[in-house]
Amino acid sequence: MIYPKIESRTLFSRTEIAERVSALAKQISDDAQGEELVLVGVLNGAFIFLADLVRAMEAVITVDFVRLASYGTEMTTSGEVKITKDLEVDICGKHVVIVEDICDTGRSVKFLYDHLKMQDPASLKLCVLLWKHEREQFSIRPDYVGFEFEKGFILGYGLDYHEQYRNLPDILVLEEP
Ligand code: IMP
Ligand code: MG
Repeated sequence: MIYPKIESRTLFSRTEIAERVSALAKQISDDAQGEELVLVGVLNGAFIFLADLVRAMEAVITVDFVRLASYGTEMTTSGEVKITKDLEVDICGKHVVIVEDICDTGRSVKFLYDHLKMQDPASLKLCVLLWKHEREQFSIRPDYVGFEFEKGFILGYGLDYHEQYRNLPDILVLEEP
């Protein structure tokens, strides 16, 4: 590995990810029933997931991004969510799907969901690649989930550990000491 060695193991391989992402893309495309979708990617973590997802979709889509700050470079949530880059498209009356990397406590996606809801989209759905059950606190149910798992800190496929490791093609979990 190009990065400093860390104790980790593969949780989901690139092959499993590719299969799951295609299945999600099909499900989202089918549910769109010919309507145009606005996909809202949450930076930075969702950039790779979103890139793979849209290329597997058969639907008319536009893409925009938001960036949230809650974690900083820490591994535990700071408790406060801020939008550091807001949407640039008008989503009023549009069918919107939020595309997020991981739902941990759920605080970030809940905050974003409420923020976008206030802009009167025709519909608002949530797609998360990873749903971590360990620390679920904020009641939000994703419409589309890539993988569910119990606990652990994840890196790779867009997800970072101190801002690094995003370019690893598999999804890894840090080994508990
Ligand atoms: P939440 O608000 O607690 O759900 O945390 C959401 C954000 O924290 C995600 O969008 C990620 O950017 C980051 N995060 C949460 N868990 C992990 C993890 O296991 N690995 C990497 N980033 C994570
Ligand atoms: Mg992050």
